Amino acid sequence: MASRISKSCVDEIVSRTDIVSLIGEYCNLTQRGNDWWGCCPFHQEKTPSFKVSEDKKIYYCFGCHAGGNAITFMIEYNKFSYVEALQELARRANVEISYEDGSSPVVDSGYERREQYIELYTRVASAFNYWLLNREGGKFALKYILDRGLTLETIRKFNLGWSPSDGKWLHRFLKKQGFSDEFLSDSGLFSKKYPEYSVYTDRFMFPIRDRRGRVVAFGGRLLHPKNDGTDRKYINSPELPWYKKGEILFAFDMAKQHIQQTKQVIFCEGYMDAIAYHQCGFTNAVAPLGTALTEEQVRLVKRFANTVLLSFDSDEAGQKATERAILMCRHEDLEVKIIQLKQGKDSAEIMLNYGVDTLTSDVNSAIIDSDYLLEKLLKKYPKDTPDGKAHAAAEFFNYIDVLQSSVQKSASMEQLCRGFNLNPEAAKRDFINRKSNQRMELENQRQERVESADQNQLKIGQELRALFAIISDISSAADIIEQLTADDFEDSSARNLFIVLKECCNNKNLSLENIISRCDKELQRPIVEMTSTGEFSKNAAKAVQDSFVFLKKRSLERKRIELGAKISAMSPASDEDILLLQNLLKEKMDIDKLIEAMKG
Ligand code: ZN
Repeated sequence: MASRISKSCVDEIVSRTDIVSLIGEYCNLTQRGNDWWGCCPFHQEKTPSFKVSEDKKIYYCFGCHAGGNAITFMIEYNKFSYVEALQELARRANVEISYEDGSSPVVDSGYERREQYIELYTRVASAFNYWLLNREGGKFALKYILDRGLTLETIRKFNLGWSPSDGKWLHRFLKKQGFSDEFLSDSGLFSKKYPEYSVYTDRFMFPIRDRRGRVVAFGGRLLHPKNDGTDRKYINSPELPWYKKGEILFAFDMAKQHIQQTKQVIFCEGYMDAIAYHQCGFTNAVAPLGTALTEEQVRLVKRFANTVLLSFDSDEAGQKATERAILMCRHEDLEVKIIQLKQGKDSAEIMLNYGVDTLTSDVNSAIIDSDYLLEKLLKKYPKDTPDGKAHAAAEFFNYIDVLQSSVQKSASMEQLCRGFNLNPEAAKRDFINRKSNQRMELENQRQERVESADQNQLKIGQELRALFAIISDISSAADIIEQLTADDFEDSSARNLFIVLKECCNNKNLSLENIISRCDKELQRPIVEMTSTGEFSKNAAKAVQDSFVFLKKRSLERKRIELGAKISAMSPASDEDILLLQNLLKEKMDIDKLIEAMKG
């Protein structure tokens, strides 16, 4: 069995983690009074209802009720396991992990291994970069890329590289550095069938970095396509435990700052396009990773930007991608503009053939998405036939539908009616009919979800509420907890929470963050909710006292009933029995007195 990370170590990790800067990596926070506020990273919203409390070291969302401490944040947001979350936070806070029984650490293989692979990728990226810039074999690739207009500075900045034509080179190189065959076979770098052969040979290499700038994957572009056309132009790393395509954007680590400053992001189609934009000064450009844009990617940039500029290829596939992206971004309430590249297929081509100024002017004359969509519909459907009007309207309704404000919706409806010369009343009726059909479907789905969620909800009983009240005033909680025992609780969740509180008291580290990191998972949210909403803060001292009395009284009443049952079951035969009965009766009388005293 793996040894547990010691509780004192968990406490240290939590106390040394700056929760504001941790969560600030995932969303924009601004200070208001003692707390920090931002738009919640767990649900979509326009006005901030997500609060991070620096001193309590907890976060809470008044919208979706997500809440917890640094550990729960890492678990909920990054989908880490508990141990992974601790390891990641320990690494950030420079805390050495210690284990419960003092034994040598049994590492959580999943996390450690992921870290090792990320280190491996970083090393491989440097080696590929070295081949490109310094080795004879990489000369052709270097010439190729310089001919496409990239500068040496850009190549260094993006750590671009070249994978040698010798398919076994990488394996030899890594074996020499001490990596095992077993480790390398799961790295995603080698062929499953021929484990000594790298999947990347004679390719121009784009390292893909996570938001912290660590290399987690590669995109490899073929330089010498074979005549038979069997080789794919691009090979991208497969999904790996440390690399989820849908959650990472190419160049995001380098673009984040500029996105944050300008509140704008450019989404483009490929690595080369993003790099070209960066080289031309648009350092807010990012690209999805060889797949269509995902909701997670849109949400990732939404935390920093309010406007999206779409710059997909001008071919048909690119146009489809543009329409899809418009709906996704509008659904997240982002403003959307379309960059129309008039003189070439993509930004890399424009930069090479026409230079920075042309690209800049294309960016500056980006058009609003509704104009773009209407223009396309006018080309697609005749505006003077009933069918043409109806088809165009039906397609444009998809757009109106995802808009988040009524003003936008009605303005876009007007645009549609003007463009296709529609009767506004009729258009509105069609839109409403369409909506009501959809709404019925959605309502059914929602009902099902609510029903299943209800079954998983923890019931907060009176005993738990009493404990919540007690810890809502943490400064006085320890004294009260001293006077209670585990026997005072009937409800098992309340008893478990009490044991955690007692343990914290014994270790003299009773604090909200420690309670949260030690208590049962389903209790974390209610605790944070209660402390963040200030449910008990109005008359804290009274709430605490009332709760204490409530718990004690209930526990005494239970005891009195037990004693009563014992006494009435007795039929004393010996002196010994009589003595026992007397004791029980005295005990019961004492309890009666205590209960009576509490009533007063
Ligand atoms: Zn939320």
